[in-house]
Amino acid sequence: MTKSRVAKHHHIDHALISPNALIVVKKLQKNGYQAYLVGGCIRDILLHKSPKDFDVVTSANPDQVKKSFRNCRLIGRRFRLAHILFGREIIEVATFRSNGQKADASKTLDGRVLFDNEYGKSLKDDALRRDFTINALCYDPLKRKIFDFSTGLDDLDKKQIRVLGEAEQRYREDPVRMLRAIRFKAKLGFSIEAQSNKAIDLCRDTLFSVPPARLFDESLKMFQTGHAVESFEQLRQHNMLSYFYPDLEVLDEMRELFIMRALANTDKRISQGMSVNPAFLIAVFLWHDVFQGAKKITGKTKMPQAIAIQKAATEILSKQCRLLAIPRRFTNVMRDIWGMQYRLEKYQGGKAKKLLQHPRFRAAYDFLCLRAEAEPGLKAKSEWWTQMQEKYPVEKKPRHYPSARQ
Ligand code: ATP
Ligand code: MG
Repeated sequence: MTKSRVAKHHHIDHALISPNALIVVKKLQKNGYQAYLVGGCIRDILLHKSPKDFDVVTSANPDQVKKSFRNCRLIGRRFRLAHILFGREIIEVATFRSNGQKADASKTLDGRVLFDNEYGKSLKDDALRRDFTINALCYDPLKRKIFDFSTGLDDLDKKQIRVLGEAEQRYREDPVRMLRAIRFKAKLGFSIEAQSNKAIDLCRDTLFSVPPARLFDESLKMFQTGHAVESFEQLRQHNMLSYFYPDLEVLDEMRELFIMRALANTDKRISQGMSVNPAFLIAVFLWHDVFQGAKKITGKTKMPQAIAIQKAATEILSKQCRLLAIPRRFTNVMRDIWGMQYRLEKYQGGKAKKLLQHPRFRAAYDFLCLRAEAEPGLKAKSEWWTQMQEKYPVEKKPRHYPSARQ
């Protein structure tokens, strides 16, 4: 069942495996079930990277998994998954699934799979329903054996992302796979294999059928996991920005600088283990439109600037949320950051001192500093606020925003 040519360099370093994931596999096997580590974690270990999380597949059904662990919670309705909880770490355990014949019944006319809920009979079934060959590798940590049912190891060596099966059909089943191909290209620095790449051109527009909530989740994975600059570049190269942020397709020099700096700062913070609030970067992406919108409103009416900004924000956000379902907890932060730009530019004296206390001051200030890097006219103002903070220090709270001044 294993590929005969598992070369020496295909070595799984057990030091990179989470001890909790090992506990889960061992326990399931001890209880008489098949259990393996699978997917991204094996890909990452073979590339000598620390996996973000660990997925386990098993022949046990969800109730049997639940009976094997006290710290187990079942989630999902259509396809139940088990989460085994170890403090903050969650090991996800899924029963073998397949891309089986029955799935035809749950496909739309354009081939999209609505329900991915068919149990598989074997590890092979489960591996072959996955997205890319490099994501379909499985590992038995007790027997120390890698299972490669396609060309995953070869493709890892060749540093290429290859769709499992017929690329066009697999993209049509789930268009998000095209975004995942681009994300892994950005994250791993791999290329996309020719057929898998060509099929993107044929299927690109099926991305319009992806629900905005799923697209938003995917956009977070692109921009908030340490490879935002590269993801942005790749989306641009593959003409895919239009499905997320259509207005970013063509940028003038100033916006380009503003956005690229924000992306780079986000990556830098993540590489330093600092937290980031996704609202900051989305606020950067949409700032130009909000600013222009407010300018139009104040040009036509006597509406005060602060109100015009919020009115423009409402319009832009309602348009944007039809593509990406940005949760309210983020749009509220974005509105605060935008709304405070005007005050940061205009306030002086007592009003300015009071603004230092605003819970979102730090984010809005970081945003202003970033703007000042692209608009030299704002430099003096951002420096003035830097001095204000030195003069009137506010009790420090942890920052969650990618500052231009790190
Ligand atoms: P990351 O490092 O971003 O977590 P990952 O490969 O682990 O990468 P996940 O989104 O965690 O990605 O998914 C886990 C595994 O589930 C993948 O490796 C792949 O085998 C499978 N998978 C995820 N999404 C899809 C999809 N849309 N179609 C088919 N298989 C998928
Ligand atoms: Mg993962």
